[in-house]
Amino acid sequence: MAGDHNSVGPAPMSRPSEFDLIARLFAPLATAPGAFGLKDDVAIIAARAGFDLVVTTDAIVEGVDFFSGDPPAGVAAKALRVNLSDLAAKGAEPAAYLLNLALPRGVDMPWLEDFARGLRDDQARFGITLLGGDTGSTPGPLSVAITAFGHVPQGQMIIRGGARLGDAVFVTGTLGDSGGGLALLKGEAGADLSAGLRAFLIDRYRLPQPPVLFGPALRGIATAAVDVSDGLLADLGHVADASGVRIAVEAARIPISPALAVLWGRDTVSILRAATAGDDYQIAFTAPLSSEAEIAKGAHDTIVTRIGRVESGVGVALLDAAGHEIAVARRGFRHF
Ligand code: ADP
Ligand code: MG
Repeated sequence: MAGDHNSVGPAPMSRPSEFDLIARLFAPLATAPGAFGLKDDVAIIAARAGFDLVVTTDAIVEGVDFFSGDPPAGVAAKALRVNLSDLAAKGAEPAAYLLNLALPRGVDMPWLEDFARGLRDDQARFGITLLGGDTGSTPGPLSVAITAFGHVPQGQMIIRGGARLGDAVFVTGTLGDSGGGLALLKGEAGADLSAGLRAFLIDRYRLPQPPVLFGPALRGIATAAVDVSDGLLADLGHVADASGVRIAVEAARIPISPALAVLWGRDTVSILRAATAGDDYQIAFTAPLSSEAEIAKGAHDTIVTRIGRVESGVGVALLDAAGHEIAVARRGFRHF
């Protein structure tokens, strides 16, 4: 993917010291009293009686998770949203985050201002606030690491290990759009795709749309859940392992967007690709079949599709229309 690791923004360029940077760009985002205006060594998250504090961290790296020339506000939003996706899958409401930046030399003030704007907009959109972080330089690619905190009522976090025999399996959104967008950006496909569909798919790659409001609605309903980041089959595999069950997914039920159907088609190979591409940032979960109506009620704008069932056994099976298992060579994205 991206080759020149130091090519973000115009070449050499001055930027303020890290302290000026923090004061000018990040302190305005740190509005909670416990952040001390980013003027202390640490921050405080006030304990909330009756709630557990849920913690997650995810980093995105230039050339791996985004391209060098990607709009900075979008890079910021992606870094935040890949973490919000984990919180949502656990039924947690976003509360606060830490931001750890490794900046190559070429990153200049306009780049950083747009980056901070992306954070500000998503803070307002998702109700989360900056608590602190670290800012350093790197001879390597730009990296944005975020640690996010969320709240769930005590004991109500939705774990991976709770799937029960007979549960139905559901997934939010549509799958594979981000993978399609990445294929377009890499020039691997879609030379003849219309501009509108192209933009839709690329946007799904650049800007995940995790179901942040829907996640908490699953508390007390979902028996297990996982954030779909590496690919549906890989991530459902984690639920199957943790729960000691087998998960059977019907290929024909996997939700594919109209745009992706135009790009890749709807045959088995395409569905398999959508179910293993990764970067979806949707939620896959299990729940009793009897709760389907309640799930639909809590979904509002979120698409929720029933795609399979929980059985005895191990692993994840992808089934064709006749109920035969489809061979899967690669279940999801792997860094190494
Ligand atoms: P230290 O010397 O302990 O590393 P820093 O100078 O890195 O402290 O940080 C000073 C303050 O600025 C701290 O409150 C820290 O949380 C905050 N901070 C540093 N970098 C960032 C960042 N990228 N985003 C938010 N806050 C930051
Ligand atoms: Mg520091």
